[in-house]
Amino acid sequence: MNIHEYQGKAVLKEFGLPVSAGFPAFTADEAVDAAKKLPGPLYVVKSQIHAGGRGKGKFKELPADAKGGVRLAKSVEEVGAFAKEMLGHTLVTLQTGPAGKQVNRLYIEDGSDIAKEFYLSLLVDRETSRVAFVVSTEGGMDIEKVAHDTPDKIVTFSVDPATGLMPHHVRAFAEALHLQGDVAKQASPVLNGLYNAFVAKDMAMLEINPLILTKDSKIKVLDAKISFDSNALYRHADMVALRDETEEDAKEIEASKYDLAYIALDGTIGCMVNGAGLAMATLDIIQLYGESPANFLDVGGGASEEKVTAAFKIITADPKVKGILVNIFGGIMKCDVIARGVIAAVKAVGLKVPLVVRLEGTNVQEGKEIISSSGLNVIPADDLDDAAQKIVNAVKKG
Ligand code: ADP
Ligand code: MG
Repeated sequence: MNIHEYQGKAVLKEFGLPVSAGFPAFTADEAVDAAKKLPGPLYVVKSQIHAGGRGKGKFKELPADAKGGVRLAKSVEEVGAFAKEMLGHTLVTLQTGPAGKQVNRLYIEDGSDIAKEFYLSLLVDRETSRVAFVVSTEGGMDIEKVAHDTPDKIVTFSVDPATGLMPHHVRAFAEALHLQGDVAKQASPVLNGLYNAFVAKDMAMLEINPLILTKDSKIKVLDAKISFDSNALYRHADMVALRDETEEDAKEIEASKYDLAYIALDGTIGCMVNGAGLAMATLDIIQLYGESPANFLDVGGGASEEKVTAAFKIITADPKVKGILVNIFGGIMKCDVIARGVIAAVKAVGLKVPLVVRLEGTNVQEGKEIISSSGLNVIPADDLDDAAQKIVNAVKKG
C-alpha cells in the first residue's frame, strides 16, 4: 500500500525528521487558505498522486509547454491560479504510464532555498535480509539516469537488525554525501529517524528524493514516497486509514475483498490459477506462445466457489481481456469446486471471449464432467502446454 507525499511527511515528522510546513488542499480555495498560513515568499504547489516524476510530468489538458505537477509560486494568488490549473486534470509522468493520473489533492508547502539535492532511500534488501540504505549525491529528478549512466555515484549499505543503526552507518552516509562540520552532525538524527520510522511502520520502501541541503546549511526531507508491506498492515490501522483507493486499480481492490492475490497487467489473456508458482509459470508460457497475460491471479489453495466466481467476474470485467485461461492443479483445491465456480460465474456474467480450462489433480474427472455437461462453450485442455497454445490460438483468431 502506498500513501501520498503529504501523509508520508506527517508520519516522518512524528519521528523527528525535518520536513517543511505545509497543508493538503482539495480545492483552489483551500490551496489559497493553506498558502496564507505559510510564511512565504516562496510556495510550492505539489500534485498528490501515487507516482513520482511529478515535477517533470505534463498535464494532458494543458498545452505542452505548461508547467508540470510541482510548481514554485511567488504569491498566494499564484498558488490559487496553479491550483485551478492542476486540480481535476490528468498528470502524465514517467511512472504513471501514458494514461496518467487525475490530480484530486494538492500539497501546499513552504518553499526551500536549495543548495544541493541528494538521493536517499531505504528498502528491504532480499539478498541480505536487511534494511538497505541507498545514497547518492546526484539527487533530484534524474536518479534513474544516474543509476543507469554513473552507477558508481550510488552508495549502498545495509543495517544488521540485531544491532540497529550504528555510528559507522552514519559516517558512511556523511562521507558519501561529502557532508562536513555542522551539516554532518545533522546526519545522525536524520538517519536514525528514517530507520526508526521504517521499522516501526513496517515500510517496504521509503524514498526521499530529494533530501536537500538548504542555503542556510540545514538538511531537509523535500519529497517522501512510502510504501508499506501489505502483509503487516493488520498491525497499522493508522496507516491503513491513509489509504486512497482512488489511486489504486479498481480490480485489485475488488480482488482484495475476496482475499485473492491479483495484479493487473497489460496483456490480453485473463488468467485464473491456483498457487503463485503455477501462476508465474502460466504467465511465462503464455508469453512463450506469443501473447501476454492481462493479470496475475492466484485464487489460493482452499478457494471456495464464491471466491472463484468473484475472480472470474473480475477477469471478465476487464475490457482488455480477449481470452481466459483457467489453469488449476487440484491439491488442496478440488477441481469440481473450481468447475462449479466457473460455471456459476459464466452463467451470471456471460462469456464473450474464448475460455480454455485445464484441470488436473483432486476430483479432476468430476470437474471435467461438470464443465462438459454444462453446455457452455468451454475449450478443455489436457496440460499446461496444450492449454497455453489453445488460448493463444483462440485469441489470435478472434
Ligand atoms: P517529483 O519527484 O514527483 O518530481 P518532488 O517533490 O521531488 O516531486 O519535487 C520535484 C522538485 O521540485 C524537487 O527536486 C525540488 O527541486 C523541487 N521542490 C519540491 N518541493 C520543494 C520545496 N518545498 N521547496 C523548493 N523546491 C521544491
Ligand atoms: Mg522527488
